[in-house]
Amino acid sequence: MKILFLGTGAADFPQDKTVHGFRRTSSALIDSSILIDPGPWVLDAIEEFGVDVKKIKYILNTHLHDDHYCKDTLDYLLTQGATFVETKDKDVLSLGDYTVEAYRGNHTEKVCHFIIKNGEACLFYGLDGAWLQYEEIRAIWKHKPSLAVFDATVGFVEKDWRVFEHNNLNMVIEMKKSIDTDIKKYVISHMAYTLHTDHQTLCREMEKHGITVAYDGLEIEF
Ligand SMILES: [Zn+2]
Ligand SMILES: [Zn+2]
Repeated sequence: MKILFLGTGAADFPQDKTVHGFRRTSSALIDSSILIDPGPWVLDAIEEFGVDVKKIKYILNTHLHDDHYCKDTLDYLLTQGATFVETKDKDVLSLGDYTVEAYRGNHTEKVCHFIIKNGEACLFYGLDGAWLQYEEIRAIWKHKPSLAVFDATVGFVEKDWRVFEHNNLNMVIEMKKSIDTDIKKYVISHMAYTLHTDHQTLCREMEKHGITVAYDGLEIEF
C-alpha cells in the first residue's frame, strides 16, 4: 500500500500558502483510490501533487470538523465518480480489495479512526485524537499495522488544554514505547501552526524516537 499526505496541518494554519512552513489541513490518499477526509485544501493538493481525481473511488471522513470535511470538496469529488462511505464506531467494511475497520477515537464523540488492510499491508490512521482508546489498542495488537499515523497537534507545548483532544509530542513518544513492537512505521501529522517549531527541527527531534514527520506531498510505501 501507499499513503500520500495531501495535507498535514491543523485547523489553525492561515489560509495562505505563502506563510512560512505552510501545511494544508490534514488529509491522505491511500493507493490513489481511498481518500481520507475531503477537507478544504484537498483539491489544491490534488492539483499540486498530480493526483488523478478519476482514480479516487472511496471517500472516508474521520469527523466533521471544518479542517477535515468541506462540502464543496466532497460534492466535486462525487461528480468525478467517487463514493462517500459513511462510517461509525465498530464498522467493518469491504471496499474493493480493502477492509476498513472504524474505531471511535478520543477527540469528539463521532470521530472515527481507521484500520485499512489490503493483504499483509495495514494502515492505522488516528487523526484527530489524544490517547488511544482501549478498543483501538486491541485492533493494533491484532492487526500489527505496517504504518500508523498519529495526531501531533500540540508539539512539545505543555500545560495546554488541547491535550485532552489532541496529542502533544510527549504523548506520542510515550504511546510508542508501549506499542513499539506492534507497529512497523510511526508517522505524525496534524501539526498546529502555533504550537510547533519549524519542520527540520521537528524532524531532528522525532528522529531520535524513530518517528517520521509527515509533510504535504510525502508519499510512503508500506
Ligand atoms: Zn483537525
Ligand atoms: Zn478535529
